[in-house]
Amino acid sequence: MKVIRAKSAGFCFGVERAIDIATTCTEGGKCRVYTDGPLIHNRQMMEKLTASGILEIGDYKSEKSIEDDIDGAQDDSVLVFRAHGVSPERREYLKSLGMRCKDATCPDVGKIAGVIKMHSNKGFTAVIFGDPDHPEVIGLLGYAGKKGFVVKNKEDVDKLPNIAGEICLVSQSTMFTDDYRELAEYFKRRFPDAKVIDTICGATKERQKDVGVLAEKGAQAIIVIGGKHSANTVKLAIMARRTGLPCFHIETVKELDIEAVKKFDTVGVTAGASTPDFLIDEVCRKLEEL
Ligand code: SF4
Repeated sequence: MKVIRAKSAGFCFGVERAIDIATTCTEGGKCRVYTDGPLIHNRQMMEKLTASGILEIGDYKSEKSIEDDIDGAQDDSVLVFRAHGVSPERREYLKSLGMRCKDATCPDVGKIAGVIKMHSNKGFTAVIFGDPDHPEVIGLLGYAGKKGFVVKNKEDVDKLPNIAGEICLVSQSTMFTDDYRELAEYFKRRFPDAKVIDTICGATKERQKDVGVLAEKGAQAIIVIGGKHSANTVKLAIMARRTGLPCFHIETVKELDIEAVKKFDTVGVTAGASTPDFLIDEVCRKLEEL
């Protein structure tokens, strides 16, 4: 079987940076490192990090208190803020715990937070296009002060109250560019003076574009590797299905449906921004053996 591997498959710079920061903080395994919620959204990578002394505490949304979890922390222990970022309130809370803190928020998420904060300081109401339960969106909403809303579709736009004054529309970093464009047009019909800001990150745009490239290069099916709870991986799988080709979203090689894929001569492989190379290599090797 011929395997076409997307150029962008695997870690984006934000994820790589977060792992680097947390790993450096362990000082070769000497120091215990805690992350407030999963540092990145990939279970297998989190298991590897746990084995190297990086412990996930708290919860998926970074909402619950973590005092009990850090009970056994030493003086040299470090608390790392996740790649998805945290709200200003959460940041203050984490800093108040008295531990050394290190911020692994992806700079691209930080930029969106900055855009929201700047506009909010100028009196704008910020509307975020994204998943209201995703930690990135929960964190970003905190920068809008009391003047923030989240919409995940056009119905949510309809449900917004009448907003007086200036409005800006931003997006979660991992949304589809086409969906955002469409939603922004719809949003502008209701709020014609709204300022629309493109905040989808470059890594997401690149991965989404590469799905189309796999189809153009002759892939008869697309395998998407990555966490089932990773926003950008789930989006890649949806995008792969939109090409009309059969798509298989798997977390590891164990989930590969050999019977279903072996009928294809050429298969495209891509992976989310938090999928480590070793998982992609295993899948590619297995496919090439077929
Ligand atoms: S997907 Fe984009 S925003 Fe998210 S960590 Fe990667 S570069 Fe940063």
